[in-house]
Amino acid sequence: MAKAVDKGLVRYKVIDIRDFALDRHRTCDDAPYGGGPGMILKPEPLAAALDAASACGKRVVYPTPSGRLFNAAYAEELVKQDEVVLICGRYEGIDQRIIDLYVTDEVSLGDYVLSSGELASLVIVDTVYRLLDGVIRKESLEEESFTQGLLEYPQYTRPEIFRGMKVPEILLSGHHAHIERWKREKSLEKTRRFRPELLGERNEEQKEG
Ligand code: SAM
Repeated sequence: MAKAVDKGLVRYKVIDIRDFALDRHRTCDDAPYGGGPGMILKPEPLAAALDAASACGKRVVYPTPSGRLFNAAYAEELVKQDEVVLICGRYEGIDQRIIDLYVTDEVSLGDYVLSSGELASLVIVDTVYRLLDGVIRKESLEEESFTQGLLEYPQYTRPEIFRGMKVPEILLSGHHAHIERWKREKSLEKTRRFRPELLGERNEEQKEG
């Protein structure tokens, strides 16, 4: 992320919603209507912060466990935007009216609950930044997990033998076509083992394409 910023490929601004609170205690949360545990982020400071970021009309992403699943394809979609606003939730989340008024995308990192939205936002930012032209070598991105709808094949580096375990012979053969075939087979094997649903999605896409 620092590389992308240092190279001037992207700019970011962090906004503290407490700067937009309405009372001297800088209160940003309140109890939920209808009862229930925990607190909710109040709408007024959040709305004022979003207005300060001129959020209306922009892509406004709210990371939340109840959103659509974040993935590589969605990151590819975000990297095309000129500007993205991320809202970091806290406590039990944010007032629904902020979602109705400002949020364009509700995005979940997975089926688990984090304490707050900062880490979720950083994961999204990091994933998107590395897709920007000039941050990472293009070839590295092309071979990565999910780019081709598959998980990445196993990787090895020197030494050739480590604790009695040898690097697969084929990778030392210098035979480019055979190495490519091996990588592809291993990718398929790994995807079948850990994420078989990706193979189904890929077949569907190929049929449609
Ligand atoms: N009450 C919420 C629920 O059950 O869906 C969980 C709130 S969580 C404790 C507080 C904040 O963390 C959320 O508002 C959201 O911004 C962030 N968060 C937690 N888990 C997340 C996930 N899986 N994906 C994205 N953001 C998440």
